[in-house]
Amino acid sequence: MRRPLVAGNWKMHGTRASVAELIKNLRMLTLPVGVDVVVMPPCLYIAQVQSGLEGKAIAVGAQDCAVDPVQGALTGEIAAAQLVDAGCRYVLVGHSERRLLLGESDAVVVRKFAAAQSCGLIPVLCVGETLEQREAGQTLEVVAQQVGAVVEGLGVGVFAGAVIAYEPVWAIGTGLTATPQQAQDVHAAIRAQLAADNAEIAAGVRILYGGSVKAVSAAELFGMPDIDGGLVGGASLNADEFGAICRAA
Ligand code: 13P
Repeated sequence: MRRPLVAGNWKMHGTRASVAELIKNLRMLTLPVGVDVVVMPPCLYIAQVQSGLEGKAIAVGAQDCAVDPVQGALTGEIAAAQLVDAGCRYVLVGHSERRLLLGESDAVVVRKFAAAQSCGLIPVLCVGETLEQREAGQTLEVVAQQVGAVVEGLGVGVFAGAVIAYEPVWAIGTGLTATPQQAQDVHAAIRAQLAADNAEIAAGVRILYGGSVKAVSAAELFGMPDIDGGLVGGASLNADEFGAICRAA
């Protein structure tokens, strides 16, 4: 009943020329019916990607938004309303690279989530533990805290229509994919956490797995009962590989 979703997070990659090439290759893909496909370019290239993919069933998203939803005096930031204006439908909030490298706190992530939703964007809340936390047996606690911050701040109702991405930090860009069972265990725990507040919302929320997803690993991951698709980094920069991942969903 949950419609699968595959999102490609291009991170801080690309030039106008390489983006044009990627758009050309994405346009040639055969995409599966019944799967939502999204690409998330750096903000600079959103307009180029949006117009380049016109007529193709690939939505555009952003990798982050400002804590304030509307435009204003906030140098260097981009408001959720501006992302909507540029044609975005989705936005990542709380990616681990921002949490860990830029010190983004749960409080900031909660504000960004609310800002996104207030403009009609679909927030993709990223959560996940570091290797140190996994080895200390804290995985479920860390993820529950990250999800719980949004529930406490905004109420469980905000997850109706929102997306969660479980991305273990140790699996991002390392080639170390979580095993399907490791991912499933965390996804099931997230769903159970939300179900304690609202069973219907928990049953409907899409939970993506991210962390070194490749075409070879995608089908097994996406076959798990609580894994509803993927958030793909490196492999989304290659259209053929990304297309194969989408077809595995
Ligand atoms: P990789 O697929 O490159 O490991 O990146 C995952 C990720 O962080 C997507 O947001």
